[in-house]
Amino acid sequence: MQESLQILNDIFGYSSFRDRQGDIIQSVVDGNDNLVIMPTGGGKSLCYQIPALVRDGLAIVVSPLIALMNDQVAALKQLDIAADALHSNIDEETKRRIHSDIAEGKLKMLYISPEGLLAGRFLEYLKNNNVSLFAIDEAHCVSVWGNDFRPEYVKLSRLKDTFPDIPIVALTATADHATQSDIITQLKLNEPKQFLSSFERTNIKTVVNSGLKRIQQISNFLLSHQGEAGIVYCLSRKSTEKVANDLRAQGYKARAYHARLSADEREEVQHEFQADEIQIVCATIAFGMGIDKPNIRWVIHYNMPKNIESYYQEIGRGGRDGKPAESLLFHSWGDYVSLKRFIDEGEATEQFKIVQSAKLERMWEFATAASCRTNLVLSYFGEYRNTKCDHCDNCLNPPELFDGTKYVQMALSAVIRSQESVSLNLLIDVLRGSNRTEVRDLGLDKIKTFGIGRDVPFLDWKHYVTQMINQGLVSIDFTDRSKLKSTPLSNPILKGESTIMLSKFIPNDKKPKVKVPKLSIDVGNADQDLLAALKAWRLGLAKSQKVPAYVIMNNKALDQISSVLPSNSSELLVVDGVGRVKLMKYGDAILKIVKEYG
Ligand code: ADP
Repeated sequence: MQESLQILNDIFGYSSFRDRQGDIIQSVVDGNDNLVIMPTGGGKSLCYQIPALVRDGLAIVVSPLIALMNDQVAALKQLDIAADALHSNIDEETKRRIHSDIAEGKLKMLYISPEGLLAGRFLEYLKNNNVSLFAIDEAHCVSVWGNDFRPEYVKLSRLKDTFPDIPIVALTATADHATQSDIITQLKLNEPKQFLSSFERTNIKTVVNSGLKRIQQISNFLLSHQGEAGIVYCLSRKSTEKVANDLRAQGYKARAYHARLSADEREEVQHEFQADEIQIVCATIAFGMGIDKPNIRWVIHYNMPKNIESYYQEIGRGGRDGKPAESLLFHSWGDYVSLKRFIDEGEATEQFKIVQSAKLERMWEFATAASCRTNLVLSYFGEYRNTKCDHCDNCLNPPELFDGTKYVQMALSAVIRSQESVSLNLLIDVLRGSNRTEVRDLGLDKIKTFGIGRDVPFLDWKHYVTQMINQGLVSIDFTDRSKLKSTPLSNPILKGESTIMLSKFIPNDKKPKVKVPKLSIDVGNADQDLLAALKAWRLGLAKSQKVPAYVIMNNKALDQISSVLPSNSSELLVVDGVGRVKLMKYGDAILKIVKEYG
């Protein structure tokens, strides 16, 4: 433990372990198998990087993303750690050099894709080369229950067969309960120690609004986020381009990012965003996995994501520096229906469709919940508690509840009298006495409940029926064109035997502004001139070394330097992220800048 702490202080420049990091590192060092579930930004990398340095031999890190591997390797090389990556973009000569480094025992960490690791006789080759541990990053990819199943990950089960005595540490930020057990089974982990960190991100304010006039809502939102970096996630390429265009027209530096862009263009957008040259990226889900930008201050979901794992991972890209960030999710029934159709009409197996549909259902419950949203997410990941979080909209501005039994009875009665043949919108048309042709053609204008809820506006009805669906008072039959059906809970309500509380519908523009929670995080009193000078210095170095700027030093470290104004090496060493190696490399230059501008 002493040695791990020493490495943390000395090489990585951090004073103490976060949460369970110390225990996890110890367990890997001791040679156990481990399952680590930790939210994005929690500090998973150190959980294998430090054991890799403590244990004798070569640590193999399996990662699915080339960009991520390159960044990690660049960051490790900054610390003079012998790390390298083997993937399809590495040229033959470098590959040969890496192989000879492995053979000579010079390498401490090798990042590799699952395909690369399992190709040819590479595993056999490693058998003769003293492997210290295997780290499986994004381990949820091994499970069909996870949200990003990758068939090549399944073959990683061979690792335990080939190396029964080498510890495996499987890490992920997104695994619900079923996925967690499946990772253990698939990777054949041997009596693994399990570390489930809290998934709560207290610095992220969570707000959900209905998806009406989304662009206008985004414009309003951005008024209080001027100059702050953010991501707008959209479901389609078309929406990314539309939103980026609209925002550019309003004077924002925004670009679209999606799978149809060429690799060069994608790289360019990532680079510009990383370097703060553009403020906003409007992206499909393909964006973000390979970037480690600590100062993303907000994340908007233009459309509802397909499951809570994706949603939570995406909002988790905000506020990685620990400072306040805000997330805003738009949801609409239309999004839900398209996602559902997407699953139903896909090529997947029936079993996979059932899982995906259940996940979508939970996402919808989250979006329309009237109670603490954080608790809903936490329980999804197997963490149960019932205290308020105080950083979601429902806790900060609890929705007002009223006795809605009368409305529920009206809606249920309309469902039954229409022979359970209407979908959500049609039901509301019936209740509101619409004279749409479809209503008349189906003879729905003849039933007794036609027009019974005329006084209630359309969107209010939608809000009420959605809550009825969530409370199980009606169900949606997806096998029958999303028609609404009664459930065993319907009858007692119609008979007047139970009371149903509903939340009132409040249009987005009438919602009280959610106060940003006061956080106990030091947002610093950084000297802005000094900070700018440090950033300029860092950019120069990053360009000459061809690495992302944060690899040289992250924003948090620069902020701290600009607040603390260190005047000598020992004061500089106190800064998070400055250890012995970075002090040696950059200490003089930094102290000189502090002297000049501080
Ligand atoms: P994850 O892989 O879980 O998303 P990372 O390993 O990239 O997270 O860590 C996120 C950030 O937190 C990085 O900038 C990392 O250097 C920093 N970090 C990790 N552990 C510590 C620690 N013990 N003290 C301070 N900062 C830390």
